[in-house]
Amino acid sequence: MSVQTSYEKVSKIQSEAMFHRAKQVIPGGVSANIKYFAPHPIIMKSAEGSQLVDVDGNTYIDYLLCYGALITGHGHQQVVKATTDYMHKIGTTIFGTPHELEVTMADKLTALYPGIDMVRYTNSGLEATLLAIRMATAYTGKKKIGKFEGHYHGGYNHVLVSVNPDQKESGNEEEPNIVPESKGIPAHELKQTIVLPFNNIEATERLLRKHAHELAAIIMEPVQGGFIPAEQDFIVRLRELTSELDILLIFDEVKTGFRVHLGGAQSVYQIEPDLTALGKVLGGGFPVGAVGGKREIMMISAPTSDSDIFSVGGASRAKNDVVFHSGTYNGHPIVLAAGLETILLLEQDGCMEDLFMKTDMLRKKLEKLYHTYEIPMQTVGMGSIFNIVLTNHSIRNYRDMWQADTNLRHKIDIELLNLGVYIKPLNRYSMSIVHSEENINQTVIAHEKAIKNVLNS
Ligand code: PMP
Repeated sequence: MSVQTSYEKVSKIQSEAMFHRAKQVIPGGVSANIKYFAPHPIIMKSAEGSQLVDVDGNTYIDYLLCYGALITGHGHQQVVKATTDYMHKIGTTIFGTPHELEVTMADKLTALYPGIDMVRYTNSGLEATLLAIRMATAYTGKKKIGKFEGHYHGGYNHVLVSVNPDQKESGNEEEPNIVPESKGIPAHELKQTIVLPFNNIEATERLLRKHAHELAAIIMEPVQGGFIPAEQDFIVRLRELTSELDILLIFDEVKTGFRVHLGGAQSVYQIEPDLTALGKVLGGGFPVGAVGGKREIMMISAPTSDSDIFSVGGASRAKNDVVFHSGTYNGHPIVLAAGLETILLLEQDGCMEDLFMKTDMLRKKLEKLYHTYEIPMQTVGMGSIFNIVLTNHSIRNYRDMWQADTNLRHKIDIELLNLGVYIKPLNRYSMSIVHSEENINQTVIAHEKAIKNVLNS
């Protein structure tokens, strides 16, 4: 059977040419490795609401939504207005000093997130998890961190292990190998991380007890990849165990924050982590991150006198017991204005319910469609994020995903790109509050065409 995994040539001609130019001056032609996919990424030129428009003039219903960040869709009028109005009002793009919106947003986050008493801002989700881990190691005086196989927390050495290991290298399911995801991670750094099996409480408990003396924290995505939920029993027991063993529990809610509940996955599970990392939706489409957590732990980054910060020639370092945290753009006022307006929109009566209802509608319709064609398929997700997984095998962790027919899914995804539905091949779907029922119906029609094209090729 010959299968089509290329674009209809005429429709992506400008994209291809521009990507060729990009490759001459940008490694791989992309500004982040994950933005690459074969045959080549599609280059966009504009966007509005739920729609992307590429340089060839093709339109797409966007389900990638900047990896989930754009919960109000592209260029929501209220977000754009609030942001530009605020910039005019304050008369600058950034103060470079403390300012009011930092407090306004912190008040909002402490009200919404059960595990957050205080907040520090960063410029990305990566920086947020990095700061959370540093706070945890400083607070506990222990060195190592635990992370779950298949969970992503940003691209730095400590956590860039066992995110996507293949079957050969990943080892024993109950005590997974530590597999680096990149060249250039020194072996001694790998030893700082312990890899745990998600949704397997017996094996996790064994590893936690064995390493309790050296584990500062466990960092986890409460919903792995934004779509595989932790089981309630698992996460409840994990909270109990980490408390008992003096290990901090860090929820990385960069994806799940505002997407599975306004107050994140911790509100769904009713579990208070010690520290929480946020990002994506929080910035309303601008670069952002934040760490929030228990007052006692967060205070470890609070300078109380000038002498806490030692500065020579402009370079500062933290002294004494203070955790160093800095960033020229931290707490950017325009970013926080966009984020606050986004949260305001989400807080409107019925907004989240409507978003979840639409996501559910799309999931159900797609499931029905695939089953009509007798393709083993399920959608897996929570709130406004889900993934399409082509298997009937139950999906509880990273290794279960190996059962899925990714070959078929990939072909369908390339077809969808020909048919006006934008999803990065094999990625998860995120919905926005501006995706319409018409969008949903068009998406289901496109899937049906894509399935037929692939099956008939
Ligand atoms: N943690 C999680 C759970 C994420 O999904 C991501 C980004 N996909 C990050 C951290 C890193 O965030 P950023 O890309 O903003 O650095």
